[in-house]
Amino acid sequence: MSAGMVIIGGGQAAGWVAKTLRDSGYQGTISVISDEPWDFYERPPLSKRALLEADAPLSRLFSEEQQAALDLTWYRPLRAERIQRQQKSVLLSNGQSVPYDRLLIATGSRPRLPGREWQNHPRVHTLRSWHDALSLKSALADCRQLAVVGGGWIGLEIAASARSLGIAVTLYERQPRLCQRSVDAAVSQALLTLHQQQGVSIHCDCGEMRLAHQHGLPQISCDQVPLRSFDRVVVGVGVELNLELAQQAGLEVGNGIVIDDRGQTSDPAIYAVGDVARHPRFGFSLQSWAFAQNQAIATARALLDPAAPGYDEIPWLWSDQYGINMQILGLPQGQGKTVVRQQSDSTLWFRLGEDNCLQQLVSFNDARSIKLAKRWIGTQRPLDAQQLADPAFSLMTLR
Ligand SMILES: Cc1cc2nc3c(=O)[nH]c(=O)nc-3n(C[C@H](O)[C@H](O)[C@H](O)COP(=O)(O)OP(=O)(O)OC[C@H]3O[C@@H](n4cnc5c(N)ncnc54)[C@H](O)[C@@H]3O)c2cc1C
Repeated sequence: MSAGMVIIGGGQAAGWVAKTLRDSGYQGTISVISDEPWDFYERPPLSKRALLEADAPLSRLFSEEQQAALDLTWYRPLRAERIQRQQKSVLLSNGQSVPYDRLLIATGSRPRLPGREWQNHPRVHTLRSWHDALSLKSALADCRQLAVVGGGWIGLEIAASARSLGIAVTLYERQPRLCQRSVDAAVSQALLTLHQQQGVSIHCDCGEMRLAHQHGLPQISCDQVPLRSFDRVVVGVGVELNLELAQQAGLEVGNGIVIDDRGQTSDPAIYAVGDVARHPRFGFSLQSWAFAQNQAIATARALLDPAAPGYDEIPWLWSDQYGINMQILGLPQGQGKTVVRQQSDSTLWFRLGEDNCLQQLVSFNDARSIKLAKRWIGTQRPLDAQQLADPAFSLMTLR
């Protein structure tokens, strides 16, 4: 009998692989090895709804009926400890071996910490899993002073949620500006202004952050800001990709598991999807909801159909803060300039390359322009900066 498909990981990318395989008519065994006890769920609500709503349910990827219809063989909560490529099997933490015909690695990533001393402090939190969200929510219930370490998207979302709960928030960012890796300086400035207007105290350019304790409370300091006590600390300084299985198995790895546009790794029987996979075009891991879903779907289709198109989408992610829907399409690359368009109830930041083609569009409350921009980036159409900046000029005429 065929060993079928084995998926390591029970997150968003894993869920979409399983669903797409079944939707495409695959009838063989699909085994899922997951170290979490839950059905597939999505993580974006963990920093938003899950912290704000008293009884927010698990953000399931599929309804219970849909999930049951997938007819999966679960191994959970169990860890995959080793990929045994010679035997084409996966060794689990309970000593069992699960054989595979095709293996999909969907192990995602885990929160990074500034140093070892940040590990295991009962009042220092990270946010990755449903379990983390429940623990942070109950911690915020009696928190008056919160420190957020890290001014990336997750740190900012946690700061926004905490402010909505009436908690005083101090945010520390190591770099000179917020979300420095993903957006231009003008967008970082807008994020800074927004959070300051909402009462967040922000320290940028902090360099190395230090953690101390007094009377059981965590204390934070850095070169620019003196030591201060908080009720709770949340760390959001980026992630470590869960690459160890791929590395031990001798797969090609560098800024993520190296894959082609069909998700295939350097071993033709093994595929990688989601955060852990290196983007086939950009050469690094993207860590976005859209990539985890759509690259997983493309990979599952490619597994069953050699003629299926590979993954080729423009990077896209979103964030929700203080009721503002932020969308980020594309990546800034090389030299370029930013054009700001201030509309009555929304703002757009166009990042143009030297050829005046759009590299990135960031929108606050303007999803429609993001749709238009997908075409402009796709076709590499040169744009006129003056027209873009003029709110009286209709972008629809550039359709
Ligand atoms: C709090 C939060 C908010 C976010 N908000 C947004 C947002 O607003 N917009 C956006 O675009 N993106 C957002 N993201 C990013 C997005 O959720 C991730 O990119 C996406 O979850 C990646 O999916 P994945 O399946 O690759 O990994 P994951 O969802 O992390 O799933 C990996 C799973 O594999 C398990 N695993 C790992 N190793 C093993 C092993 N050896 N054996 C068994 N199981 C293992 C892990 O425990 C986990 O369950 C957010 C992420 C977080 C954490």
